[in-house]
Amino acid sequence: MGGSRVFIVTGASKGVGAATARWLGKIGAGVTIIARSEKMLDAVAGDVEKLGGKALAIYADVADPAACNAAVAKTIEHFGRLDALVNNAAVLQPLATTEDADPAAWRYNLEVNVMGAFYMAKGALKALQKRRGRIVNVSSGASNIAIEGAGAYCAAKAALTHFTRVLAVESPLVTSVSVRPGHVDTEMQRMLRNEGAIHMTEKQAAYYQNLKRDNLLETPEIPGRAIAWLALHAPRAWSGRYLDYDDQGITGQAAGVFGDTLK
Ligand code: NAP
Repeated sequence: MGGSRVFIVTGASKGVGAATARWLGKIGAGVTIIARSEKMLDAVAGDVEKLGGKALAIYADVADPAACNAAVAKTIEHFGRLDALVNNAAVLQPLATTEDADPAAWRYNLEVNVMGAFYMAKGALKALQKRRGRIVNVSSGASNIAIEGAGAYCAAKAALTHFTRVLAVESPLVTSVSVRPGHVDTEMQRMLRNEGAIHMTEKQAAYYQNLKRDNLLETPEIPGRAIAWLALHAPRAWSGRYLDYDDQGITGQAAGVFGDTLK
């Protein structure tokens, strides 16, 4: 089904990105996975292959434009084409109010969350235009909601969501969407619970503690499957849109394509 298709997923060493890569592996796709943690990325590459896909693991920091260009070039060299780019890599830090935040940490957040997506898109656009391909930018509810103590992350995700709209008008041959993955049980939420207790208001910190306590977090496989489906099938008419991972128009079709389990 996805046998000859080729995808890049950034931030694929764990969490939502790893789950997205595994679902794409399940349909036999070629998947370039990118992150900084070598051992964890190798383990995900092993999973993709076991599920029936072909994996290319690239250890890189998406804040490095040369590394992003090299990752796209290696993908084309290895797989011969590129059908979709999933910009999922992100950092949450700094968790601090504007008054207290370290400017270098703020800048690095934008470097990864915004510039990383820009570097990858810039490097991949020509190859994606050839295939009438897709870009899926993994954004966040934080792009629309003001979270005290998470200024860099909120600003970065708002920028990413709006950058997606610009990509859609600039490159009509490529379908570009952004998606909100919901509250997901990953390292990022763990960090919100741990550091949020120190740097956020009591009310804000309690909100994230309660999500875990009340079992309200999604497993990464649920948004991962929605993202994998968007990378494979997002309709042209949706280009520029900001989407919800649990939109019924996505989840039903995603289950039909990928099934219910990662086996
Ligand atoms: P996560 O568990 O913290 O994983 C983040 C991934 O990004 C890791 O694979 C990490 O790998 C990679 N990464 C971070 N910085 C990188 C860099 N500079 N270069 C390359 N890779 C980098 O996060 P997650 O919860 O799965 O989040 C996935 C996406 O969903 C993110 O875009 C996040 O903003 C969004 N999101 C998550 C939630 C949630 O509740 N979890 C909610 C809304 C939106 P290395 O550390 O190995 O590089």
